[in-house]
Amino acid sequence: MAGLIRTILLFSACVIHSVHANPLQRIEVSKNVFALIGPMEQRSETNLANNANFGFIVGERGVVLIDSGGTLKGAKAIEAQIRAVTDKPVVLVINTGGQDHRWFGNRYFAEQGIRTLTSEQTLADQQARGDAQMASTSRYTGESWHGTDVMPAKEMVSAVTDISVEGIQLQLIPVGPAHTGGETLVWLPESGVLFSGDVVYMDRMLGVGPQSQHLAWIEAFKVIQQLKPGKIVPGHGQPTDLTGAERDTYRYLRFLRSAVGQLLENGEDMSATSSIDQSAFSYLSVYEQIHARNAQRVFEEMEWE
Ligand SMILES: [Zn+2]
Repeated sequence: MAGLIRTILLFSACVIHSVHANPLQRIEVSKNVFALIGPMEQRSETNLANNANFGFIVGERGVVLIDSGGTLKGAKAIEAQIRAVTDKPVVLVINTGGQDHRWFGNRYFAEQGIRTLTSEQTLADQQARGDAQMASTSRYTGESWHGTDVMPAKEMVSAVTDISVEGIQLQLIPVGPAHTGGETLVWLPESGVLFSGDVVYMDRMLGVGPQSQHLAWIEAFKVIQQLKPGKIVPGHGQPTDLTGAERDTYRYLRFLRSAVGQLLENGEDMSATSSIDQSAFSYLSVYEQIHARNAQRVFEEMEWE
């Protein structure tokens, strides 16, 4: 009986744990290079707006963090993941994009004296859309928003930049607009790992939103093809290789462009986008919610080309 009670207690402890647990899944994608894979659902009080991927690299005496989380609590959840691996301090935070979860945790790290760095175009996007995103992310995260005080990155680069920190060699590659107004790749030439930010979506359908530019996104993807990464940590979804990223992201962007281009050539209007058969991509999550809107957005863009 005692054994049974203990089993029940253990079981309920597990259930409680899973509700309040850090929802990030930690994967060592290469030696000392970690991906933190967030859930693909909408922002919520439980996921702390960490519904995206993050990463960190452990160097000689310090850690480089890629993207700082969607709330103060989200930043602390990321820090807890680092602490599960090493006691070394975070010495540099890099933001790959201007979307909330890429940078809303910046202040937490900056107040510890840690540098925050991104590219010029990503910084411009953070400044332009910060207020609007604060309004929506605070609504989605409810109580978990408490204490969040957003702060764009303090330092920026304007071109491809090599960085050497704590024995870690990395390259910041600004690729301009794609999913948002300015994305920044983080490339580790030694291990062949690329942190792509939102230039690559895996497992879930990418979103072509009002802030997106699909043609520039295709061009940004070509930069990744030239790097020939062995492993890609995407903005959302599981780590992959170039073939996987081409399948779930590049192929879809090109498909939309060609299908919408055909409609325009035939003199159709936007309502015709609903006739595009996108079912080859229905295996991607959130397909139902966003595929129609994606085609409309590409139509809007292409009308003006
Ligand atoms: Zn994203």
